[in-house]
Amino acid sequence: MIHSGEIIVLREPISQFGRVSEHLLKFRLFCIDGVAVTVRTRFAPSPTGFLHVGGARTALFSYLEARANNGVFILRIEDTDLERSNPESVQAILDGMNWLGLEFDEGPFYQTQRFPRYAEVTQQLLSQGKAYYCYCSKERLANVRVEQMKQGLKPRYDGFCRDRIDIPAGIQPVVRFRNPLSGDVVFNDRVRGAISISNEELDDLVIARPDGSPTYNFTVVVDDIDMAVSLVIRGDDHINNTPRQINIYRALGADLPKFAHVPMILGDDGARLSKRHGAVGVMQYRDDGYLPQALLNYLVRLGWSHGDQEVFSLEDMIACFSIDDVNRKASAFNTEKLDWLNQHYMRTLPPDVVAGHLLWHFTRAGLDPGQGPALSDLVAVQADRVKTLHEMTEVSRIYYTDFEEFDAGAAKKHLRPVAEPALRTIRERLAGLQGWKTEQLDEIIHAVAVELGVNMGKIAQPLRVALAGTGVSPSIDKTLWLVGRERSLRRIERALEYIVARAPEA
Ligand code: GLU
Repeated sequence: MIHSGEIIVLREPISQFGRVSEHLLKFRLFCIDGVAVTVRTRFAPSPTGFLHVGGARTALFSYLEARANNGVFILRIEDTDLERSNPESVQAILDGMNWLGLEFDEGPFYQTQRFPRYAEVTQQLLSQGKAYYCYCSKERLANVRVEQMKQGLKPRYDGFCRDRIDIPAGIQPVVRFRNPLSGDVVFNDRVRGAISISNEELDDLVIARPDGSPTYNFTVVVDDIDMAVSLVIRGDDHINNTPRQINIYRALGADLPKFAHVPMILGDDGARLSKRHGAVGVMQYRDDGYLPQALLNYLVRLGWSHGDQEVFSLEDMIACFSIDDVNRKASAFNTEKLDWLNQHYMRTLPPDVVAGHLLWHFTRAGLDPGQGPALSDLVAVQADRVKTLHEMTEVSRIYYTDFEEFDAGAAKKHLRPVAEPALRTIRERLAGLQGWKTEQLDEIIHAVAVELGVNMGKIAQPLRVALAGTGVSPSIDKTLWLVGRERSLRRIERALEYIVARAPEA
């Protein structure tokens, strides 16, 4: 016999049971490895496109609230809309979660695999008189609607089949939930505060379509009960669904979870964030060269703050986050801030971590990282100089593959006969150098400048154009270091040939 409030030790994650017995559900207190789990959150996307930034932020908040409370984070794919859901979108969601590093503890669960369970609960509600078959035709419903509008009433189902006794032949009925006719639904949203809706505002919701397929407001409740979700975090576009769902919880005799409806994200221009604002899919940010650490940090600050702190590692977020501190006002996207964070993380994360992400861009660009400096060395030099990993890849091509031609303007300006002696001397010294450290390279260039009596600029720029093909690259010692010995010697040789070939006939 289990007593209320007692900790129940489960040997497997709870959702592995497929359905938690009613017995366990009454207690809502679980234990994993000896520690009580009281917070269970979930992210429940519908796979009808990519994982967009709004969804990713909801996922992040749900993840953080679970982690901050030693809880469990569940991923559930709400794929019952067979026409709009597709496997590519499921994959896009999984890829997005994976790239962001939002690890879930249970799932992914697929609603399409739970149809028998929804049918079972529908039958239960029907047999208890808490749901009923509705045979109303579309035409009848449309007429009722028109009539209600004429009278200035809010259109809603008029309850025609609620207590109907006759069963019309040849009609596949829908199943409607018998919503209470009076009273109020009251709940305390963790973000929005107290919310109260009169049942007179709500009508009898369709929970199963004529073909038996269940609808969103019903499946979400069955799942959240079965998966013992204790806190539902979702976008505030769902806030009107919540009172309906609460009535279903009550009809099923289940305890209510807590709810937290997070505000939407707006574009820079104040309109709801959409494709027209540019990237809205999480993976597009990867493609554009952002680090997941930067995007996560950016997303957590959209609607949540902790003093005036701007930079949060995932560990910091877990330590500081509480859903109760989320702002109820919508927050606006700000690309400049994201760029700033991206650069911050490129500079401050361990270079090998950044290099791991850079590798993806190299592969996409067809660059072989084996043909040049270690990517972590590259990151150490380039992180300060670019805003994104995409940009880093583009400006670093020259360290992995030869450039076609010198930039015409830079060559005209710097690859001239006056530069020839310095380039020749440097080439010689470099060829004889033991080792290839930046300090040694720097020393050689300074020594040659002194010996030939020319200033550094007169040496560095021709050398830079010789090595990089353009007049822009990191400091000259670092450029040499990245280009590497063999390639540097070859490229200086090529520059010398270029100078000679263009020198006026003697
Ligand atoms: N599947 C719903 C959506 O993607 C979310 C449902 C929920 O979180 O309750 O909008």
